[in-house]
Amino acid sequence: MVHDVAVVGSGFSAIALTVNLLRLLPPSTSIAVIGDDPSFGRGTAYRTEFHLHRLNVPAARMSVFADQPDDFVEWLRSKGKGGSADNFASRGDYGLYLRDTLAGLLRQRERRANVDFIRAKATTCIHRNRDGLQFELDSGQELQARNVVLCLGLGSAEMPIKPRNLDTSLQDHVVQNPWRLGWLSKVRPSDEICIFGSGLTMIDQVLSLRARGHRGRIHVLSRRGLVPHSHLSHHATAVEPILPEGTRQLSTLLGAFRAQVRAGAPWRALMDGLRPRTQALWKELNQEQRSRFLRHALAWWNVHRHRISPQVFSQFQHLLENGTVAVHAGFIGGIEQKEDRFQVAYRPRGTQAQAHMNVDWIVNCTGMERAGISHSPLLQEMQRQSMIAMDELGLGISVDPFSRVVGPQGQIQPGLHAVGALTAGQFWEITAVPDIRNQAKQVAELVALNLENKAASLSDQR
Ligand SMILES: Cc1cc2nc3c(=O)[nH]c(=O)nc-3n(C[C@H](O)[C@H](O)[C@H](O)COP(=O)(O)OP(=O)(O)OC[C@H]3O[C@@H](n4cnc5c(N)ncnc54)[C@H](O)[C@@H]3O)c2cc1C
Repeated sequence: MVHDVAVVGSGFSAIALTVNLLRLLPPSTSIAVIGDDPSFGRGTAYRTEFHLHRLNVPAARMSVFADQPDDFVEWLRSKGKGGSADNFASRGDYGLYLRDTLAGLLRQRERRANVDFIRAKATTCIHRNRDGLQFELDSGQELQARNVVLCLGLGSAEMPIKPRNLDTSLQDHVVQNPWRLGWLSKVRPSDEICIFGSGLTMIDQVLSLRARGHRGRIHVLSRRGLVPHSHLSHHATAVEPILPEGTRQLSTLLGAFRAQVRAGAPWRALMDGLRPRTQALWKELNQEQRSRFLRHALAWWNVHRHRISPQVFSQFQHLLENGTVAVHAGFIGGIEQKEDRFQVAYRPRGTQAQAHMNVDWIVNCTGMERAGISHSPLLQEMQRQSMIAMDELGLGISVDPFSRVVGPQGQIQPGLHAVGALTAGQFWEITAVPDIRNQAKQVAELVALNLENKAASLSDQR
């Protein structure tokens, strides 16, 4: 069977695309969704059941539908879970909302396209023929589709440094991917922990540890030691920053931004005001300016742009103040085994000194700044076959402004789109719900149009 659309992936991007396709495509069409995540659509972000894992975007901006902004708030109300637009709901509830939304559309079977959920990973893309692309799945199945949308997410980050020659008993205490939450239950209450990375993932893990009764010291180590800022507890109106025309020099843009803060504009309001312009600004930067941004400004951008709920921030702040969590700015030198523990060597930022810490666990929370393709055998294979190309900065793959995949010679690949972080080279601001849902809607519309055109040309030929 040839499917009209194959959605490859099982996180938020895949569900946002699928629900949009269901709204658009006629009942005669067929969609295959190929993903290896048992809690389809919830991905790493929204499968948690831990109530302190909160959304970092207010409920009013988390509807899965770009054209129905109140959908999530209404769902919260219908479930008796509050429903204030400024609420930072739990991520687990958001996962349930996604599940309910999809289920609601699937129930209207006679009016909607048919969806086959295939629990598998796509491993190889075999060839393109008149009927689109053909995939091999790790289940041994093959699948063919006229339109394909890659929704593969970021993958998981590599350890910044790999400890060697560890006793077997200690190997389990190196947590490469903290989202495999099984490790939390093995931590003893007094264990000391070193976490690499000081962003959102670190905060999640620290709060999860504390909620499970862990009381030992936690050392957080990152190059700059920057921790995400908090949202305000009340709604503040976004203020669009005034940026100089005619230049896109980063230092000039930053200077203009800072001058407005010095003149009294709240920085959070300015950051929020910048948000709707970020994609357009990114497009105006040349490659050199983009790469300077990634080299020099990214760490600062992340902590100001990706803020956390006031509730989560104050919990974390409390742990910093009572000294049980310490954040260090520095560079990891090495990890060795010392008896039955680890000794982590690092150079504190701004010094030439060597410092050490002895801990029972090493946890990698460096997260992923860029998707790249190295995490995905499928993408590597597609690159070998010249079906995709990496974007120039290596953030993901090349796509045009309509999220159509662009091959190595700059040619648009008919019927092949990508959604989510893979497209950061083109859009930059494309990791959070408010951006992905717009992209998912646009791609669903393009796929629907492709199918309509195809049907029209077939009927012309008859
Ligand atoms: C902890 C966390 C909290 C977040 N909180 C918020 C928030 O509050 N608000 C907000 O707006 N954004 C938030 N985000 C950002 C954003 O919503 C998520 O990153 C979003 O869920 C990304 O979804 P995705 O589908 O693109 O990627 P992912 O969630 O990574 O999903 C990709 C999926 O595709 C599967 N896959 C990969 N390769 C294949 C293959 N070859 N075949 C089949 N399947 C494959 C993977 O196994 C995975 O399940 C958060 C992100 C994280 C990680």
